[in-house]
Amino acid sequence: MPPLKHRTIPIFVPEVSCPNQCIYCNQRVISGQQKMPTDEEITATIERYSSSFEAGTHVELAFFGGNFTGIPMSEQQRLFDLVRPYCQRLGVQGIRLSTRPDYISDEKVDFLKANGVTTVELGVQSLDDEVLARIRRGYTAETVERAAAIIQKRDIEVGMQMMLGLPGDTAEKSLRTARRIIELGATNTRIYPTLVVARTMLARWYEQGLYTPLTLQEAVNQCKDILYLFETNNITVLRVGLHPTEGFISHTDYLAGPFHVAFKELVQTEIWHDIFCKATLPAGDLVITVPESQLNAAVGHGGKNRNALQQRCRSVKFRTSPNLKPYTFEVNA
Ligand code: SF4
Repeated sequence: MPPLKHRTIPIFVPEVSCPNQCIYCNQRVISGQQKMPTDEEITATIERYSSSFEAGTHVELAFFGGNFTGIPMSEQQRLFDLVRPYCQRLGVQGIRLSTRPDYISDEKVDFLKANGVTTVELGVQSLDDEVLARIRRGYTAETVERAAAIIQKRDIEVGMQMMLGLPGDTAEKSLRTARRIIELGATNTRIYPTLVVARTMLARWYEQGLYTPLTLQEAVNQCKDILYLFETNNITVLRVGLHPTEGFISHTDYLAGPFHVAFKELVQTEIWHDIFCKATLPAGDLVITVPESQLNAAVGHGGKNRNALQQRCRSVKFRTSPNLKPYTFEVNA
């Protein structure tokens, strides 16, 4: 049987509820939206997305973009009541939302559970207290640990988003954050390299020479180890790199930093590059079989890995198999 297709209906709930000012954040730029969506906009989004779903698709509705549990409870209730009939009619299997770890309490999570929430994504960013202080997140690693325990106690899945290249961060600290995310029982994650977004505190630090973002190659190298760690520990990686909005593609919404429209593919290309480099391969005509979902990454962005392999043997062909585990391959000469 082919694997079940997973689809998400995203509803963006912007910074209107957020009193914090994390140094890297300009929520209008990141979500591309400034005002709370109206009822009509929300229902139109649900209708638009759901019209393209095939029968049998696993559908989730997601409130993204801001700090959901920071919204007044009456407003949260209004949003849940608005989407409920659509969720029932479309057979939506779950509701996910993103929020801050310090806006989690027993009362808030009981309320989410009663309204059908199945996954809470915590914007963790780092589990290093020095980094958290530098970026003015306003909580410590202990806050994240406490939030995760409260959510998991109600059988709600926990996701944890992390960032790379923050002020005070290092490759080792980021890798430690990733390991801790696994230990804390997160089932899914998103990895975002830090960009210097216009009209933020970080933009001022960058202009004053107080912050240097990672280069694209540094970000790819750091992310390579972290993505491999997550994927080989059964953590679903929902996103690697910021969504390529028009403002990011045209470079108008950020000043500097490792943005690339195919960032995840660059990272996976490097993982496969390392795998092929370490492998002992025959020198003849190679047929390399890789997991179906990883063909592009194995061949490499711009054919990078295929070109490198062609230097080591007479010819290379790629095939796919649905039965191979991620980052494993078979070779026939
Ligand atoms: S908590 Fe989230 S929305 Fe609020 S300033 Fe920080 S990053 Fe932006």
